[in-house]
Formats: sequence, structure tokens, C-alpha cells
Amino acid sequence: MEAIEVTLIPGDGIGVETSAAMQRVVEASGAPIAWIVAPAGEACIAEHGTPLPPATLDAVRRTGVAIKGPIATPVAGGFRSVNVALRKELDLFTCLRPVSSLPGAGGRYDNVDLVIVRENSEDLYAGIEFERGSEGARRLRELVEAEGAGRIRADAGISIKPLSEFGSRRIVRAAFEHALAQGRSKVTAVHKANIMKHSDGLFLTAAREVAAEYEGRIAFDERIVDAFCMSLVIDPAQFDVVVFPNLYGDIASDLAAGLVGGLGLAPGANIGESCAVFEPVHGSAPDIAGRDLANPTAQILSAAMMLDHVGQHESAAVIREAVRRVYAAGTCVTGDIRKAQGSSAPAASCSQFTDELVRMVSSLR
Ligand code: NAD
Repeated sequence: MEAIEVTLIPGDGIGVETSAAMQRVVEASGAPIAWIVAPAGEACIAEHGTPLPPATLDAVRRTGVAIKGPIATPVAGGFRSVNVALRKELDLFTCLRPVSSLPGAGGRYDNVDLVIVRENSEDLYAGIEFERGSEGARRLRELVEAEGAGRIRADAGISIKPLSEFGSRRIVRAAFEHALAQGRSKVTAVHKANIMKHSDGLFLTAAREVAAEYEGRIAFDERIVDAFCMSLVIDPAQFDVVVFPNLYGDIASDLAAGLVGGLGLAPGANIGESCAVFEPVHGSAPDIAGRDLANPTAQILSAAMMLDHVGQHESAAVIREAVRRVYAAGTCVTGDIRKAQGSSAPAASCSQFTDELVRMVSSLR
């Protein structure tokens, strides 16, 4: 069988460890993947002068499929987020994050099975910002006052939140199409339209209009984001596919991951018209990086999503089943899972967990 080229961006911090673990597991599954390893992130600035070398972007464009580890973004100052740049450059407008209970993983619930669909290109993530005291901030302040739209203090930094009809319709449509393709039955749209009438209000109107096209096939409901968070924590099983503007989707992803055992288990995909980039929800975890402590499950389940995307469904299913069995057995799990379980039993290292998973994958093939 001809090998399928996939760009691999190991990333920063624990990304180096989780990516290596992921490669071992995919190889054990027998999927014919040829890795095109490409750098991005903090570690490549010294050599390439940029955290996102053009050659890396070209590799993703050429192969059309990439899997990446997390990339560190300095808080305030430093370079802009490479993750946001990748999503923008490749117009990866749909972010899919399935969240499912994994027996033995220390989750709060054993019946969660939902998919977060997060808009990836607009909202406060558009990166349109004006520094406190800047000329842009001053002019905006004047405009807001002249329009009678309110007052902004002179010492405020300003971030702009654009939500377009185009962007809202296409993400809601992606959520409904995902629901149809995966045999799911309901889409919930989450918003704060009661307060942000011209951004979230527009998102909600677009969601209702798109939902009408799927009437009779996929059910639709809507929630205000704060009430949604409470409902999610109390009874997550009521949700199926949930679609959000960018920022709420970001926050809800971590919240939902926390319900099933934590970030170490949460995979994701960023999908556009011509490219798809798969990655775990978690960051580079500098507090545990380089110590063989990371849980590579999120990266490995991201690879299973990637394998489905390139048509390697059998390998994807074998990897998911192997993950399920290793957790169900309960003897070989990493420290984050022991913590979620509230257990003082010994934790496996990243490499011990990976060895166990490789053995399980090989035995299931
Ligand atoms: P983080 O997700 O890196 O870590 C949060 C906590 O979860 C830490 O205690 C960490 O040890 C733990 N954790 C995360 N993943 C884990 C895993 N696989 N196994 C075990 N424990 C795990 O979030 P943060 O500390 O806010 O961010 C660190 C850096 O990562 C920042 O620079 C941030 O910008 C970046 N980040 C990148 C991405 C991405 O590349 N897509 C996503 C989120 C954050």
C-alpha cells in the first residue's frame, strides 16, 4: 500500500514526548503513514528566526494533513500564537473536539459522549487589539463616544470581537454536517446573545436559520453560555454536538475535558477546505516537560482522528480500542490520571504507558 504523507510538528514542551509516543502507536497499528517532520514553536526560533517557518506551512499545504504537538505562546508580548497563525493561514475554521468518558480514567462521569465544535477564525481570537494609550485606542474611544455607544476609559486596552454571518453560518453548518456524518441526533448552539446582540446575536440568528434546513433530521437547541456551563457540569450526558463561537468553545473544551479525566485525554482537529491539522487540546505543560511524565493519550487519540480523516479507519479503531482496554485494566496510567482518580497508586511514565499501549495495539491487529 502506498504511504500517506502526513506532516508532523512535534512542537514545544511535552509535545516532543507525546509526538514520539504517538508515532510509535501509529506505527504499531500498521497504518502506512510517511511522516514529514517539520519544526514550529519556541525551539525553532534560534535556527529559523521565526516560530512558524514558511517551509513548515508549505509542508502542511502540500500534504493537506498534519498532526502537531502543543506550541508555547508567551502571555503578553513575544510572538503571536503559532496555533492561531496556523489556523488563520490555512483557514482551519472548524475545530472539532470529541469528549467521551473513558472507564478507568478518573472522570467525574461515565456517560459523557459529546463533540465540541468551536469556530476557529473569528471572535476575540481574531487578534485585533489596541494597546492602552495607543493612537488606535484613542481613535476607537472617540468613535465609541461619538456614536453614543458607550464610554471606554483612557487607560483601557481594547480587543475587538468580530462575529460574521458568513463565519457563523459555516461553523453551524459544519456542526450539523458532523452530526449527520457521525449519526448524532442533536446540535446545541451556545451564545451570550442577551448581552452581545450584534455579535452573539448574529451567531444565534445564523444558527437558527441553518438549523431550520436540518429540521426533521437533527434536533436543535440553544443555551446561554453561563447556563450551559452549569448544565454541562450537572448533566453532561444531555449534550451531543455543541457549537460555539471561538472563545466560549475554547473554555468549554477544557471544562468538558475536566469532566472525563483531564486535558491528557482530550484530542482535537482543526479542519479547513483543503487542510486539516490534528492536535491535543492541552498546551506544552512546561511544569512537567522533559521528565517523561506527560500523558500522551490526547495526542494519540488526535492521531486516531487523523487516521479516520485519511481513510485508515481500521487502524483508528484499533488504537481507540487499545486505549480503552489499557485504561479499563487500570494498572498502567500516568500521574495526571492518578490525580484525577484521587489515587496514590504508582503512576506510569509516558514511556511505560506507551509501551503498554503499543503492546495492546499489536495484540489487537
Ligand atoms: P497546559 O495545557 O500546558 O497545562 C495545564 C495543566 O495541565 C498543567 O498542570 C499541565 O501539567 C497539565 N497537562 C496538560 N497536558 C498534559 C498531559 N498531556 N499530561 C499530563 N498533564 C498535562 O496549559 P498552560 O500551562 O496554560 O499552557 C502552557 C503553554 O501551552 C502556554 O504557552 C500556552 O500558550 C500553550 N498552549 C498551546 C496550545 C496548543 O498548542 N494548541 C494549547 C493550549 C496552550
